[in-house]
Amino acid sequence: MKIILLGAPGSGKGTQAVLVSKELGLPHISTGEIFRDNIKRGTEIGLKIKAVIDGGDLCPDDLTIEIVRNRLKEEDCKNGYLLDGFPRNIAQATALDKTDAPDKVIELVIPLEKLEHRLTGRRGCTKCKSSFHIDFIGNRKDCPHCGGELGIREDDNAESVKERLAVYKTQTAPLIEYYAKQGKLFPIDADLPIEEVFASILKVVR
Ligand code: AMP
Repeated sequence: MKIILLGAPGSGKGTQAVLVSKELGLPHISTGEIFRDNIKRGTEIGLKIKAVIDGGDLCPDDLTIEIVRNRLKEEDCKNGYLLDGFPRNIAQATALDKTDAPDKVIELVIPLEKLEHRLTGRRGCTKCKSSFHIDFIGNRKDCPHCGGELGIREDDNAESVKERLAVYKTQTAPLIEYYAKQGKLFPIDADLPIEEVFASILKVVR
């Protein structure tokens, strides 16, 4: 099955993608993770996009589409994929439809006014990539799941968060209608505990 997790930054896409990918045995493909990995390794792509990501804007479509197309050609994608953070605009969705159209698009719905708080208090494990919120883990520096080191994403600062949310509203939110028209959209209440959101997703994909 080919699944897209659609939702604003901070809606829990990454957290749910880890769970769903494990449950269904689908490769979790996060364009944000691919970009951050390139930045960390100092690749040519990483150097090109670091400022864009730190500022909260979208990376160029041609680059992003090429990265995803190549990734989807890999052996582990032969039974499907779980895309997290792609597509982010209509141009990317149209490009995906030409080669690897999704079967289902799960929209994680959450009141936009809650996102700023979720993002600015987010801590991520540098090892297992799980995310937590300081409301729940306080000042803890080690990952409650694997003991890895917790860090703050460079683009989770107040200024970048504002820009990312603005970009979501103007560029990504139109995808809701795009996929609804195709009869592929499944909106899910994501303002609930992780396990409940996960259960709703499984109901849709099973
Ligand atoms: P994410 O981890 O999905 O929140 O993505 C972090 C950042 O990576 C975004 O704010 C963008 O700068 C960039 N990015 C991730 N996915 C895409 C995409 N599909 N198109 C363009 N830029 C992206």
